[in-house]
Amino acid sequence: MENMINFGIDLGTTNSVIAKFTKGEVNIYKNPISWKDTLPSVVLFRKDKIIVGEQAKSYLEKSPKNVISSFKRKMGTNEAYKINSIGKSVTPIELSAHIIKELKNFVQSGTQIDSTVITIPASFDTIQSNATKEAGRLAGFKQVVLLQEPIAASLAYANKRMNDLKDGQWIVYDLGGGTFDVALVKINDGEMKILDHEGDNFLGGSDFDRLIVEKKIIPYLEAEYNFKNLEKEMKSASGKYNSVFYIALHQAEQAKIQLSAKSSAEIEFDITDEDGETHEIIITITRSEFESMIQQYIDKSIEMIKKIMVQNSLTSNDIDFILMVGGSTYIPLVRNRVNEIMQLPINCEIDPTTAIAIGAAYYAGTKQKVIKDEKPKSYVENKLIIKTAYQKATKESEEFFAAKIEGNVEGLFYRIVREDGGFDTGLKLLSKKISEDLPLVNDSYNYFNISIYDEQNNKIPVDVEPIGIAQGKFSIAGQPLPNDICLEVDDFESKHTRCELVFQKNSILPLRYSKIKEINRIIVKGSDDFLRINILEGPHYALPEANRSIGFLEISGKGINRNIAKGSDIEISLEMSESRDLTVSAYLTMTDQEFKEIFSPTMRSVPQEVLSEQISELSEKIDKEIKFAIELENYESAKDLKSLKSEIDELIGESLILSIDDVTDKRYQLEDKKCSVAQKIYIATQDKEIEMAKSRYLEVKQICYETINENGNDVEQKHFNGIVNQEHTILSSKSILKIREQTDKLKDLMWTINWRTPSFLIDTFQWLTSERQRFNDQEKAKGLIEAGKFAINCENFDRLAEVVYDLFNLLPELSQDELKSKIGFY
Ligand code: ADP
Ligand code: MG
Repeated sequence: MENMINFGIDLGTTNSVIAKFTKGEVNIYKNPISWKDTLPSVVLFRKDKIIVGEQAKSYLEKSPKNVISSFKRKMGTNEAYKINSIGKSVTPIELSAHIIKELKNFVQSGTQIDSTVITIPASFDTIQSNATKEAGRLAGFKQVVLLQEPIAASLAYANKRMNDLKDGQWIVYDLGGGTFDVALVKINDGEMKILDHEGDNFLGGSDFDRLIVEKKIIPYLEAEYNFKNLEKEMKSASGKYNSVFYIALHQAEQAKIQLSAKSSAEIEFDITDEDGETHEIIITITRSEFESMIQQYIDKSIEMIKKIMVQNSLTSNDIDFILMVGGSTYIPLVRNRVNEIMQLPINCEIDPTTAIAIGAAYYAGTKQKVIKDEKPKSYVENKLIIKTAYQKATKESEEFFAAKIEGNVEGLFYRIVREDGGFDTGLKLLSKKISEDLPLVNDSYNYFNISIYDEQNNKIPVDVEPIGIAQGKFSIAGQPLPNDICLEVDDFESKHTRCELVFQKNSILPLRYSKIKEINRIIVKGSDDFLRINILEGPHYALPEANRSIGFLEISGKGINRNIAKGSDIEISLEMSESRDLTVSAYLTMTDQEFKEIFSPTMRSVPQEVLSEQISELSEKIDKEIKFAIELENYESAKDLKSLKSEIDELIGESLILSIDDVTDKRYQLEDKKCSVAQKIYIATQDKEIEMAKSRYLEVKQICYETINENGNDVEQKHFNGIVNQEHTILSSKSILKIREQTDKLKDLMWTINWRTPSFLIDTFQWLTSERQRFNDQEKAKGLIEAGKFAINCENFDRLAEVVYDLFNLLPELSQDELKSKIGFY
């Protein structure tokens, strides 16, 4: 159907492919130069032109400094490649755009393509996803829809096996050139769902090539000839042997591919040593040597399959097979090891290099083109909202369709027409709820257009997608979110911040969230005060520093139209689209202002110094934790922590040998590892945190008990008993958050009682008026102090409470904290 996107692109680390969905079938466009299905994801810069693909790849050895490959692994980073021949730097986004443009040239239809589906690894985070969309836009696409690669692979498989495919579930194992994805896929009544996934953005065939260079080629050269610091000189951009590094990598890849079919292969190239002598190098590598180099990486990938099985309480009986995708699954060890360890059948039915693009095209066939700036203006003005409900895939010959209409339907009509004209409801009166039985054409995607007309039979533009139902074909139930999305919020108990879950991993996109919160500080109009809403990506139970920030919305004193009081309301809303655009908005009740930001960060920067600093901070933290555990004679936990300590030591070692201009993607790998160690430390020290939270709870309970005995009433006593009755369940829940929440409830209760107790108010007032207090607004404070004295004299304690509250709010943050701890608020 013409108003569907139809084009699907697999933008791979090593190879890229473009395919199109037409009339129920998918075709791959051949590379007009090599006549292959794939375009190598390689770009060559010459003085006067840019060459992409096969020919660029052939320059990898001749002129490696001007040829760039494997840049997908740096998508989402701020790293740019310096190109000598043009004297400029190019970013991974620009390089990807060159690949996409070249793929567009494969399509010789003359028609303009302005929408496409582009696939991404399931484990791509928000920043990497945005970078991919940006590359699509830079290549001239007005609309880019992202699709996760395991879904694409499964769609390709399911649509191939359409007739004999039963309901069931399988695992997709995609090991390509740069990334690894594993996903659990379930199929039910023709509709496919990704239930869970794991992945590593830095695991793939190019690591195997690098291993051959590090473990075979470099040791050989060092043993046989005269080289100084060979490894460093090869890997550093300014190193003497940097060009040889690329040549060696390319040769290693050729040998690796041969080893999938033969038991040994040869690596050949020339190199000039420190004495200026050129040597012709021939190194033989055997399959078993190669296998022992990569085995630990394969095992690491298998660990991720196991993790998914455990997370979802599955045994091998629950899984039909493991679907192999990606060029690196040609390696016999990969297939054998996965099969042997998992005891599950290996399915190699689909072509591992084209499956992703084929699946992407199937998906594109179900996605409508939406080119934003072409939307008629009246659409914005129209208030009709149509919410449709129907099953997107079916084996029946008819499908029930229902819709709910919001807005004024009076005097309006609707009409539903099947795209091929084979079905037409005719004009029917529109009501708040409508329904139809839609007849379907077998074995194809059926599209129905729904239109709304007024009494004069004029078509009214409304925003409703065509109804798309796959009869006997497979469609997907939506794409899952790969990581938790959280807000960073203050945690008064620990005086640090913590993550608050907004969207949970594996929820189906698009997602919406909205919550009213209290502002925990004063923001004075026109001042430099600010409130920052920080959005993080990563497990919600981890520490904020173990996660990545994907953007923040800042509300500053300069942007508000009146002062904001502490405790006033802020409504925070987040929306994430299927292609992972994140919109964050904050509405301030007090000023009636809305702040809105669409986040599409496309870069993260990992300066080497910052990374080293963060790693050494982690190291100090773990030293303290180990000491603490030993003091408490908690040897079990000390042992766990020590093993984490050795992981950190390893990281320190690796970061030390990293040169500032290191050309590999080591620093991103190190950053990933750092985040994962930080999370493990958190989990390992969780028990200690729980103990601390428990003893804090008991302490607060005692003070609260005394306060109630002295000044509480019956209702408060009852409330207190209610909280204490839940104590057993909460304290044994092992949830720090729940224990802290319960502690907060007690504190709130205490606070309410104190707030109306004259002796407490007088004490607090005296503390506030003591000589040393400095207020943010000295004049205003003076007036309040007078009012307070007067209130005490007349024993007007309601008024005194107001004065104390206002004075407290005029204190600088540090003094506020001091007072809070004095009156037992902390
Ligand atoms: P990507 O999706 O990352 O672009 P592909 O799925 O096309 O990658 O796989 C490319 C990777 O597969 C490269 O590292 C390549 O060396 C490797 N590869 C391709 N064919 C073989 C083979 N026969 N044996 C081993 N590795 C292979
Ligand atoms: Mg791939």
